[in-house]
Amino acid sequence: FVLPDFQEFTGELAAIFERCRANTEGRVANCIPQLARADPTRWGAAVCTVDGQRAGFGDHQVPFCLQSVSKPLNYALAMTEAGSDRVHQFVGYEPSGISFNSIALNSENKPHNPMINSGAIAVCSLLARGQRLADRFDYVLRQYLRMSAGERLGFSNSTFLSERESSDRNYAIGYYMRENGCFPPDTDLRETLDFYLQLCALEATCDSAAVIAATLANGGVCPLTGDPVLSAEAVRDTLSLMHSCGLYDYSGQFAFKCGLPAKSGVSGAILLVIPGLMGIALWSPPLDRQGNSCRGIQFCRELVARFSLHNFDST
Ligand code: GLU
Repeated sequence: FVLPDFQEFTGELAAIFERCRANTEGRVANCIPQLARADPTRWGAAVCTVDGQRAGFGDHQVPFCLQSVSKPLNYALAMTEAGSDRVHQFVGYEPSGISFNSIALNSENKPHNPMINSGAIAVCSLLARGQRLADRFDYVLRQYLRMSAGERLGFSNSTFLSERESSDRNYAIGYYMRENGCFPPDTDLRETLDFYLQLCALEATCDSAAVIAATLANGGVCPLTGDPVLSAEAVRDTLSLMHSCGLYDYSGQFAFKCGLPAKSGVSGAILLVIPGLMGIALWSPPLDRQGNSCRGIQFCRELVARFSLHNFDST
């Protein structure tokens, strides 16, 4: 696949984008009021290629919470910082086959993978460990900003506060993990859960998230700044897990039909990576039964069909 003409390519993307806009299926998440209030007509997309060409569509400048889209980024950071052996001492790399927020561990008493809540909470216990929570938060935000070339990121405090108030399930997962020795010694569980929820409440726009996706597509080097934020090995492993585990209980079907690494979040965001080519960010709040953005999934499927981008396409 080569991009002979970026203008022509974005013209095709615009046509796909408009077809997806007509898709009025799905329901906005109702787990917390901040998400339930989302406008179901919101629909944005942005592209950033590994050589820095950009395009944005619809609501591409409107901020949204990353939610579970933060999981692969946190994993990539922890892998870069602490290395694979250390990280995988605490989390596996196998699809779980069960819901993302299940209270369950694998046969080695580890969370199945870092793309589900338990695994992401384990990753958060490792990130910038040994520093104060405030400094750990600043550190992660700084790394995200390096991935986005300094483009627009934010934090929704109301989302964080309201999630924390209603996060019984994540607390239950955390206590179950602690009971099973899933954290390094001296882990402050409450602080770890706060950290996890704070990173879920980070905000991006499609524009800034597309640059982050492009950093993943580019082996961890931000294509706009040349900044090597993530190690190549960390990015490879992150993309592998996005490919096998990135889309909740639709992950296997997405890997089959689209054959690309992606990660979705309950806010209706999807980060899609076309390795070596480009990053794409999609955002529209109405979700399908598996919890993925209806318009976002349609966009991915149409894109792959039109441009033969499936990992195993041979033409
Ligand atoms: N903060 C949400 C949770 O922990 C993340 C949900 C999601 O995007 O999958 O349940």
